[in-house]
Amino acid sequence: MLKFNCPHCHAALKVPDSKVGIEQPCPSCREIVKAPIPFGMESLDDFLQSCQQEHQQFLGQPREVEVVPVEPVEETISTESKLLKGLREFGWWVSIIVVALVIHTAIMQVYIKFTIKRELNDAAQDVQDQLNSIFQ
Ligand SMILES: [Zn+2]
Repeated sequence: MLKFNCPHCHAALKVPDSKVGIEQPCPSCREIVKAPIPFGMESLDDFLQSCQQEHQQFLGQPREVEVVPVEPVEETISTESKLLKGLREFGWWVSIIVVALVIHTAIMQVYIKFTIKRELNDAAQDVQDQLNSIFQ
């Protein structure tokens, strides 16, 4: 962070180091303020200025620009993400149904085991009663 005061309204300002030497409107008075170059980094300012000059020269040169028809990229992306979202939701439902089926099967197994055991016991008791009545 670099701290300095606005030369117009003297408001205390700070900018990240990456924005040193960059001109921006002061948030307090809206005047264009250049974030100062810290001591020892003046060569960076020269470098930035030469870059800006080169950029201006480049902008001044006539260039051939190929005009490419713009395709509705946003639309495809949004339908694609909708599809992905739908697939993910579908996956969640499938997982929930599978888990529910597994739990249901486990419960049914326990239930059937105990029911059969009880019925077998009842049947055995019946046979025992009948045998008892025959051999009395
Ligand atoms: Zn200001």
